[in-house]
Amino acid sequence: MGLVENIKDVAKIVQQSDNIELYRQLTNLSEQALDQQNTINHLHEEIERIEKKLKNKERIQRHPELYLTLEGDNDAIYCTHCWDNEEKLIQMRTTNGQFECPHCKLKGVFDKNENEIYKAKNNPLNILHGL
Ligand SMILES: [Zn+2]
Repeated sequence: MGLVENIKDVAKIVQQSDNIELYRQLTNLSEQALDQQNTINHLHEEIERIEKKLKNKERIQRHPELYLTLEGDNDAIYCTHCWDNEEKLIQMRTTNGQFECPHCKLKGVFDKNENEIYKAKNNPLNILHGL
């Protein structure tokens, strides 16, 4: 049983004794204990969040094309801008070798082969000559 529950049990006993001042002080104590428990829970969540961020930070691999990958995870690429700016790992949308961040809209190319095909298709000289 937790601290708050124990205080509530004592408060019930005190309430039956008709000692209003003692009951009031116990109620205040119960509220303080509840506030402290909420603070402890919040701090535990914060510690978990920071530990997760530190683990991710150790796994980050940077690439010249402004995206990140995590060591041991070949399925997703993440936004460099969002990580550097807010320390958030935002997974990029990928299509035909290109990426776009759904959060900050950073765009680029991550697949070098697709990148070359993309560049050739969008090269003004090739478009002009119908290549
Ligand atoms: Zn982003």
